[in-house]
Amino acid sequence: MLLQVENLKTYFHTPRGIAKAVDGVSFSVEKGETRAIVGESGCGKSITALSLLQLVPEPAGYIESGRILFEGKDLLDRTWEQMREVRGDDISMIFQEPMTSLNPVYTVGWQIEETMRAHGKNAATARARALELLDRVGIKDPSGALRQYPHELSGGMRQRVMISIALANRPKLLVADEPTTALDVTVQAQILALIRELQKETGMAVLLITHDLGIVAEVADTVSVMYAGQVVEDAPTRELFKNPRHPYTRGLFASLPARNRRGQDLATLEGVVPDSAAWPKGCRFADRCKYAWESCHTIAPTFHPNGSDRPVRCHLYDPNISGRPSRLPWLTELPVTADLVEAAKL
Ligand code: SF4
Repeated sequence: MLLQVENLKTYFHTPRGIAKAVDGVSFSVEKGETRAIVGESGCGKSITALSLLQLVPEPAGYIESGRILFEGKDLLDRTWEQMREVRGDDISMIFQEPMTSLNPVYTVGWQIEETMRAHGKNAATARARALELLDRVGIKDPSGALRQYPHELSGGMRQRVMISIALANRPKLLVADEPTTALDVTVQAQILALIRELQKETGMAVLLITHDLGIVAEVADTVSVMYAGQVVEDAPTRELFKNPRHPYTRGLFASLPARNRRGQDLATLEGVVPDSAAWPKGCRFADRCKYAWESCHTIAPTFHPNGSDRPVRCHLYDPNISGRPSRLPWLTELPVTADLVEAAKL
C-alpha cells in the first residue's frame, strides 16, 4: 500500500470552540490508483489533503491524532525539515487556483527548476527537464514560457505550469485539490487526460479532491464520500455509481442534471453541513436526511455496520439499530444513477 490514512483527526481552535474539521478519516491509495474524495464544501476534503503534507494552517489548525502511513512510515513522525524532503518529491500537490501557489516575482522557469534544484538536481538537468515538462503539458513555446511571469499566462497555462512543478520530481503520489474547477471544459478535459497519461507512464497514484461527480466517473478507481468531517461511504467508482448506498451520496447524485430526469425538478440537497464546532450527537446528516428516524438523531452510526460488505456510515444497514425499516426506503423510488452509469460507460 502506498498511502494508508488511519483515523485522522485535524482540528481548529475557533472562537466557537474546537472545530473538528476532519474527524476520524481513514482511506488508502495503492500505487497507480486514483482515489477521489468527494463531498460538498465544508466537508473536510481539502483539510484532509493539506493534513497529508502537514500544511494545515497554523496556529489555529493542528493534527490531533491519527496515522498517515506513506510506504509504511508515518509522515506524522517526521520533522518539518524531513517533510520538506517529502513535499514536491515523493508527494506533490496541485491546487484549484495556481496563482495562490505560484510566486508572482519569479519566472516560470525559475520556479520549475527550483523545485528540482531543491531536491538535488544540477542546473543543466533542471533546465532540460523544465523544457521537457512544459512541452508535455502542452505549452506551445516552452523556452519562451520559461522566461514569463505567472501573471503573463492564462488560467489554463498557469495550471499547466503548476502541474509541471508538481510532476518535476516524478512523485509517487499527486494530491490534486479541485485541479480543474477554475478552467473551461476543454482545458479541463486536456488536463485530466494529461494527468492520466503521465500516471500510466510513471505508475503515479493520484488523490483527487473534487465535488464534481462527472470527473470522478471519468478518472477515479475508488471513491471516498465525505460528509461533516467523516467518510460516509467508500467504494470502487463503478459500484458507487451503480448502487450508491448512503443517503448523502444518493442526494449528491440526485442533484445532478441527467438525461432520464429531463423535465423533472432537480432534487437539491436541502440544508447545510452542520457546524464543525458542534457536530450533532447522532448521525451528522440526520437534519437533511429524508429517511431519518428517531435513532438517527440520538445514536452516531459506525462506518462498518453489521451485515454490510461495503463500508457505509448509516443505520439503514445496521440490523442492531431499533426502528430500522425492514427494507431500504428508496427501493420504490426511481434509480438516481442509471443514466449516469450509462453516460460514463461504467
Ligand atoms: Fe439518514 Fe439515518 Fe442513515 Fe443518517 S443514519 S444517513 S439520518 S438514515
